[in-house]
Amino acid sequence: MADESVVDITILGAGPAGLAAAYYAGHRDASVRIVESLEQVGGQVAAVYPEKHVYDVAGHPKVQGQALVDLCAEQGLQYGPDVRLGEEVQTLERLSQNGEELLSVTTDKGGPYLSRALIITAGHGAFEPRKLGIEGVEAWEGRGLHYFVREKDAFRDRTCVIVGGGDSALDWTLGLQDTARGPIALVHRRDKFRALETSVNEAQRLQGEGRVKILTPYEVREIHGDGEIRAVTVENTASGELEQVECDALITLLGFHSHLGAIAEWGLELEGKRQIRIDPTTCETNLPGVYAAGDVAGYPGKITLITIGMGEAAIAANNAVASIRGEKVQPKYSTD
Ligand SMILES: Cc1cc2nc3c(=O)[nH]c(=O)nc-3n(C[C@H](O)[C@H](O)[C@H](O)COP(=O)(O)OP(=O)(O)OC[C@H]3O[C@@H](n4cnc5c(N)ncnc54)[C@H](O)[C@@H]3O)c2cc1C
Repeated sequence: MADESVVDITILGAGPAGLAAAYYAGHRDASVRIVESLEQVGGQVAAVYPEKHVYDVAGHPKVQGQALVDLCAEQGLQYGPDVRLGEEVQTLERLSQNGEELLSVTTDKGGPYLSRALIITAGHGAFEPRKLGIEGVEAWEGRGLHYFVREKDAFRDRTCVIVGGGDSALDWTLGLQDTARGPIALVHRRDKFRALETSVNEAQRLQGEGRVKILTPYEVREIHGDGEIRAVTVENTASGELEQVECDALITLLGFHSHLGAIAEWGLELEGKRQIRIDPTTCETNLPGVYAAGDVAGYPGKITLITIGMGEAAIAANNAVASIRGEKVQPKYSTD
């Protein structure tokens, strides 16, 4: 749907950095539109680890991921930005309208969205889970195949097979112990897990109690069911032996493919393959009026943490506002 209304700042991505940028822009009385490819705000925190605790965000000694991004959303959306969910940004153009230089963004579903500045807070890009290499695997999505654990309750009394060798696979093998029906089968294609040793040791201890069944080196070869998943065939890749494991939830935690996608075609200078190079003193990219903050923004020595992204969001928003208004950069305190 076309939307010709011009806002001061378009924010691309509604993770912690994008929500912080929306707050700082709104606080400076700038109008904002947020475009987010997922159907929810909260970025990686909401999508990947909503139920984990985070300990290193300033002012929060211990906070659950989802609770943190709920607070970020409450703060970031308080000035009523136009929020477009489920739209992946595709093109960026410059145009002149009524004597004003504008940036025009289109998405796979909408636009053009016009603004005076753009802040890219796209994290690792629009991310997609890595999938099992089984033909037609997508057909099981929504029928017992999961790529995330968003709510533990969705797995209450379900028999789960978890696939993966990293922290997420181990964390949920342990984290679903009080929710899923045991034993939880943990399938990994290698002998050794990449996850934290303490988690692996705990899973092995639970195996001794019959609450976890560790299958290594195994790979899932087939999914069976009658509309919903009922079992998987796994292969011991060392011996070639096949085994059928009953389950009604198959949770594959194999990481994500993420790439900047269309954003990489906009003529932005990159820092390595995955980040947009910014001047950290302004957060501006090589394209005038285009800023970046958070995981997507790169410069030598960059640390990709929530706190850092929030700080960059403040720099980007204040610089964008100053540039739009032709003013000196002068942040304003929020206290009243
Ligand atoms: C398992 C795990 C644990 C972590 N633990 C911590 C921790 O303890 N402390 C800490 O500080 N950090 C932690 N991090 C890192 C932290 O989550 C990131 O630094 C933070 O989420 C970055 O925020 P962001 O807003 O820059 O990007 P993201 O959170 O990645 O959000 C970017 C958003 O942009 C959207 N987007 C991307 N491309 C497009 C597009 N083309 N069009 C529209 N929307 C788009 C994405 O869908 C996404 O919602 C952890 C990360 C993981 C994976």
